Amino acid sequence: MNTILVTGGAGFLGSHLCDRLIERGDDVLCVDNFFTGSKQNISHLLSHPNFELLRHDVTFPLYVEVDRIFNLACPASPVHYQRDPVQTTKTSVHGAINMLGLAKRVQARILQASTSEVYGDPQVHPQPESYWGHVNTIGPRSCYDEGKRCAETLFFDYHRQHALEIKVMRIFNTYGPRMHPNDGRVVSNFIVQALKGDDITIYGDGQQTRSFCYVDDLIHGMLRLMDSPAAFTGPVNVGNPNEFTMLELAENVLSLIGGSSKLVFGPLPADDPKQRQPDIALARQALDWAPKVELVDGLKETIGYFKRLFD
Ligand code: NAD
Ligand code: UDP
Ligand code: UDP
Repeated sequence: MNTILVTGGAGFLGSHLCDRLIERGDDVLCVDNFFTGSKQNISHLLSHPNFELLRHDVTFPLYVEVDRIFNLACPASPVHYQRDPVQTTKTSVHGAINMLGLAKRVQARILQASTSEVYGDPQVHPQPESYWGHVNTIGPRSCYDEGKRCAETLFFDYHRQHALEIKVMRIFNTYGPRMHPNDGRVVSNFIVQALKGDDITIYGDGQQTRSFCYVDDLIHGMLRLMDSPAAFTGPVNVGNPNEFTMLELAENVLSLIGGSSKLVFGPLPADDPKQRQPDIALARQALDWAPKVELVDGLKETIGYFKRLFD
């Protein structure tokens, strides 16, 4: 049996990952400081004999014995990561150093949850892994973008300097059940607004694009990457290449939920990327992975989750 450390395991993606690992018989140590995650996301796992929860902040050292590490700890929504930007950079950078130091000591393979934000507001479309990005170093998103970029640098330096087995996954916008209702990200915002009959808040003119991946597809890709041959380090894009404008997303959500919500237009946040679509040729070839869930089907599952939450 493998003992697997999941940092950020009580968050949206982390809790789904813990579910899949427990299902396949792994021993899971979930580490989280509950900054954005919640015990509710993992409450169904607490009594499982193979599951253990530890409240801990990854910016502090952690001494445990594990075989593999998934490093997901970091707030992901712009609203949350901008609330305490210094802590966001510390989580990405000090957190990466501590988890890499741990991986080095116990000779564990380690996967980093990186992000499409390393491409910034991209001038190449769609974005292949070879694109170095277009990122502001001093804006309100920089704590997240530059923190994640520095974490990638640390991963590759530990790989070259200490022969650590690393996997760097560039995750594109992912949605699904267990997103926090006040998370601030677009899919949860639109669904919660439509369910409550509130106005749908479009930032800017709604013509900016994102490509949305359903959580089950994403976690499948993450497990494929962790289990890939040692020589494959990434970085590798994992996401759904179907691209939508925020207006199209709002129309999709409204047509599934119905109701009387109106679209209202507000200011576009600073440095908001205008377009984003993953080039997933590498994931297809190296991991034999591609997303399967269509946006409407994933939205139906997510809407069902929020309906149950508000009942
Ligand atoms: P989330 O906010 O739901 O989960 C992050 C988890 O990390 C939370 O449980 C939070 O409490 C925990 N955490 C934050 N700081 C911590 C710290 N210092 N120590 C310990 N735990 C800490 O977000 P998510 O969507 O599940 O994202 C998970 C990871 O995937 C993040 O690293 C994020 O950057 C990355 N990612 C997510 C997306 C996406 O669309 N969901 C896209 C790109 C990258
Ligand atoms: N570290 C940790 N757990 C471990 C081993 C190391 O948290 O099991 C932390 C340790 O506190 C250190 C960091 O990881 O600050 C980097 O460790 P490394 O061995 O690479 O560097 P050094 O200890 O030489 O600074
Ligand atoms: N957005 C929006 N209304 C909202 C929340 C977000 O129009 O209520 C826009 C946001 O400006 C961005 C896109 O939706 O252009 C995706 O935002 P999100 O915060 O989900 O993710 P990210 O910008 O990190 O991709």
